[in-house]
Amino acid sequence: MRTILLTAAALGLVFPAVAGDPSGPAEEVRYVMGTLATVRTWADDAVAEARSLAVAFGAFDRVDSLMSTWRDDSALAALNRAPAGMWVAVGAEVCGVLTGALAVAQASDGAFDPTVLPLVELWGFRSEGQAGRPDSTALRACLAQVDFRQVELDTAGGRARLLRPGMAVDLGGIAKGYALDQAAAAMRAAGATGGYLDLGGNILVFGNQPSPCVGVVDPGNRERVLAAIPVQDQSVATSGQYERYLVLDGEAYGHILDPRTGWPIRPGFSVTVLSSSAMLADAMATAAVVLGPRAGWEFLENTAGVEALTLQEPPDAAVRWRTTSGLEPAPEPGAIPR
Ligand code: AMP
Ligand code: MG
Repeated sequence: MRTILLTAAALGLVFPAVAGDPSGPAEEVRYVMGTLATVRTWADDAVAEARSLAVAFGAFDRVDSLMSTWRDDSALAALNRAPAGMWVAVGAEVCGVLTGALAVAQASDGAFDPTVLPLVELWGFRSEGQAGRPDSTALRACLAQVDFRQVELDTAGGRARLLRPGMAVDLGGIAKGYALDQAAAAMRAAGATGGYLDLGGNILVFGNQPSPCVGVVDPGNRERVLAAIPVQDQSVATSGQYERYLVLDGEAYGHILDPRTGWPIRPGFSVTVLSSSAMLADAMATAAVVLGPRAGWEFLENTAGVEALTLQEPPDAAVRWRTTSGLEPAPEPGAIPR
C-alpha cells in the first residue's frame, strides 16, 4: 500500500510498505512555525521515543522564538525594528542562518534575498485583507529597500545590522530547513534511531525508518507514480507548489517574489531539492523557483551538495520534468517525456 501526499501539483512523497516494527513509530502532529509539523520517531523504547518527540518540537519552538517575523519578541523582530545601521544582538543561531541565507543570495545573484520582507508586505501577502498590485512608485521605493548586500554580520559577536532605512529580513524561505536540521540532531542525541520530520512540506528522514520516495505523480491520475527517488538520511524541500494564490486580472501569482523585479512568481514551475542539509535544500528550492526552469536547473546542477527534480506544469502543455545529473529516478512504464 502506497501513500501519496500532496494534491496540489505533480510532485509528491510516496511511502513504501512498512516492514518491521509492528507497533509503528511514535508520532506527534502540531501546528508550529505557522504550519503543520509531523514528527515520527523510531527508538528502542517508549521513553526514548517520547523524549525525541519532545526535543524535536522544542527545537521548532526555539527557532520560531528566534526567527519568526510574526511575533514581536523574536530576535529577528528586534533586528527589523532597529534603526538603520544599529547593531543588534541576535545570537549565534540567527547569525548562522543569516550567513547561510546571504551565501545563497550571493550564489543566486539575488534571486534568493532574505531582505525581501518589505516586498512581501507591499503586495499584501501578510495582511488579512485582499492582496493586490501596488502602484509603481511604491514598488520602486520598496525595491530600494531589498538588498542582501546591505546586511552586515558580526558572527563572532552574534550581532547583525541592516544598513538602509526600511529594510527588514524574512527568513521564511530558509528557517524551516534550519529548524529541521536542529530537530533531527536533537532527536538523535535523545536516542532516536530513526526519524521522519515534515515541517510544512519540508521533509527530513534519518536513520532506520521506511524511507519515503520523492515521486512525480501523474497529474491526470494521482494514484499513478511516474518516477520515484528514494530518500534516506537526507532532506527534501519543495517550493513553488502554492496552496494560496494571489489573483490579479485573472492571472495567478504565488508568495515567492522576484527581488529583481519586485513581482511575485507565476505558478507552473516547482522544484524539489534533496540535500544532507535541510537549510540548504530549503533556500535552494526557493532560489531556483525565482530563477525559473532554465537558470534554476543550471543553478541546482552547478551547486555542490544538492540534487534536484524540477517540474514544469504549464496549463496548456504536457508536464516536463528534469533531474540534476546526480539523481537517478526509476521511471515507471508510461513515464512522461522529459
Ligand atoms: P519557501 O516556501 O521555502 O519557498 O519560502 C517562501 C517564503 O520565503 C515566502 O513566504 C517569503 O516569506 C519568503 N520569500 C519570498 N520570496 C523570497 C525570495 N526571493 N528570497 C528569499 N525568501 C523569499
Ligand atoms: Mg525555501
